[in-house]
Amino acid sequence: MNTNNIITNVDKIDAEKLKHASEIIAKLQNELPEYIDHGHGPFLAAIYQGDKLIAKCANSVVMDNCSNHHAEINTIRAAQSELKTYDLAPKNLDLYITAEPCMMCIGAIMWSGIKNVYYGVPSKKVEKITGFDEGFKPNWLEEFKKRGIKVYGNIETELGEDVLKQYVKSKHVVYKPSR
Ligand SMILES: [Zn+2]
Repeated sequence: MNTNNIITNVDKIDAEKLKHASEIIAKLQNELPEYIDHGHGPFLAAIYQGDKLIAKCANSVVMDNCSNHHAEINTIRAAQSELKTYDLAPKNLDLYITAEPCMMCIGAIMWSGIKNVYYGVPSKKVEKITGFDEGFKPNWLEEFKKRGIKVYGNIETELGEDVLKQYVKSKHVVYKPSR
């Protein structure tokens, strides 16, 4: 696969891991429209241990009336509940997300003990397509690297961008606090 556009904080890209991540993220993007049809926001996340799916959740901010129910946070909570631990670090888990995590989710990922993060559409693109506010995230890739969390981004972005464009076109809610 073409790795030219990949955003990462690892020194050397692991092509095999990236190929595996592309397959999982493409699958999530293909599943996402059905979640949207059922009232979820346009973001889906999954946590795997190797090939084993531990948890998968979509954004549920609107349906739950809760501003922190992002896909990543819902998925981390489900994985910790499933594995009965607040510290996922010893489990060596991979988090796959259809889009780059926002400033809130970056914190949630850091505290969860997740070791590897793979995401699809970068925040700048998400903001441009949808109008969602992804927050400010100074040097998060470097900060994650210091903490031993590997990140790969910009995976299968075209698929992801299409889902987001469709979300906006169908006039679904682009929620944010009023100012
Ligand atoms: Zn978030």
